[in-house]
Amino acid sequence: MALRVEHDIFVVRQRGREVAAAVGLEHQDQIRLATALSEVARDLLRAVGGADVTFAVDLDEQGPPRVRVDLAPVRPLPDGQYEPHSGAVARLVDMLGVVDREGDTVVRMSRRVPASSQALTPERLAELRTELGSSAPGSALDELASQNEQLIAALDEVRSQRDELAVLNEELQETNQGVMALYNQLTEELEATNQGVVALYAELDEKSAQLRSASESKSRFLANVSHELRAPVTAVIGLSRLLADSASDPLTEEQAQQVGLIRSSATDLLSLVNELLDLAKAESGRLEPNWTEVDLRAVFGQLRGTLRALSTRTDVELVVEDPPPPGTVRSDEVLLAQVLRNLLHNGLKFTERGEVRLRAEVRDERWWLSVVDTGAGIAPELHERIFEEFYQVPGSPRIGGTGLGLPYARRVVRLLGGTLELTSEPGRGSTFTVTLPIGGG
Ligand code: ADP
Repeated sequence: MALRVEHDIFVVRQRGREVAAAVGLEHQDQIRLATALSEVARDLLRAVGGADVTFAVDLDEQGPPRVRVDLAPVRPLPDGQYEPHSGAVARLVDMLGVVDREGDTVVRMSRRVPASSQALTPERLAELRTELGSSAPGSALDELASQNEQLIAALDEVRSQRDELAVLNEELQETNQGVMALYNQLTEELEATNQGVVALYAELDEKSAQLRSASESKSRFLANVSHELRAPVTAVIGLSRLLADSASDPLTEEQAQQVGLIRSSATDLLSLVNELLDLAKAESGRLEPNWTEVDLRAVFGQLRGTLRALSTRTDVELVVEDPPPPGTVRSDEVLLAQVLRNLLHNGLKFTERGEVRLRAEVRDERWWLSVVDTGAGIAPELHERIFEEFYQVPGSPRIGGTGLGLPYARRVVRLLGGTLELTSEPGRGSTFTVTLPIGGG
């Protein structure tokens, strides 16, 4: 088609719409292509005085077919460039720009044909070409009328879209309010939970302070009571000894037996009182280690001597190994000996046959002092319980025990900067291990 005068713009527009409809573009796209075409046609008429307009369809193997319009200007474009008067025009089509067509500069626009439309075979295109060729172009007035109709339809659509948008906006606002309400609720709940946790912690702090003070009172009470008991019990022992003395008036056999009973009971009581006092002292922190360089060989030698007298059972052997070099540890000699004696004593008490062995090793800058016995062993669930005050394993022989030895030993070892642990299996004996830093705690 030749575009030369103002009237041609209408014809080009009308033809553009017809072509777009013929190849199968949707209604909206037909108007888009027609509008873009009339805009570009007006621009070119003004700038260069006209153009030759060609409609074509590109059949591409890979992509969908495209309807294409080429406008070849009748005079060269200023600077060989084309910029649409209205910036929105380019958005109406898929592609709009200046291209080189076999040496000529043309303004080209194209738009994809939807896959849903009738297949565009070369035969179909020939058919369309004949159809379009035979239809006479309408008048400018006709085109103006149809353009108005399209404008009204477009305006209608814009309005309905705006209404739709308003509804969507309202919905969005509602959703936002819902989300905000939920968020506020969650924040409130979180705050309440936080307050609860804070209150709980405060209560916990208070409870542990109460516990601490209760434990301190208990230690103080134990220390006082046992201290007060010591004097009268010692007096009872002394008096009963005096009664049984050969220098005193002779007792009948029964009296002598009863006095003996009083004395042995009082002796047991004194040892309980002494142990209680020791434990109370260790718990109240009034036990101050006397730190010196302790010769472990000497301590072991002493234990070997004093405990051998205790191991009256012939089927149990007491073995005290010699400690390896360096042979010394920075500690409190009296307390350390007390702990080891306690453990060895227990071993001898609770072992019927086999041996009780004291062994010393150096590992990781620490002494590992183990008392290993071949006794009955201790069930795993009781490994911690036996370190509680007064706890004695049910069914184990009660041979002058109070259940205070192990809790006291553990306290003392901690005071010396070490640990006291037990490994044992019922029927396989027990191993109590004291570890101590070589350089002191
Ligand atoms: P005591 O020996 O005065 O009863 P301890 O605190 O020293 O108190 O020991 C608590 C309990 O642990 C003992 O009564 C005993 O049941 C158990 N126990 C301690 N040492 C051994 C051991 N070597 N073998 C088996 N049981 C033991």
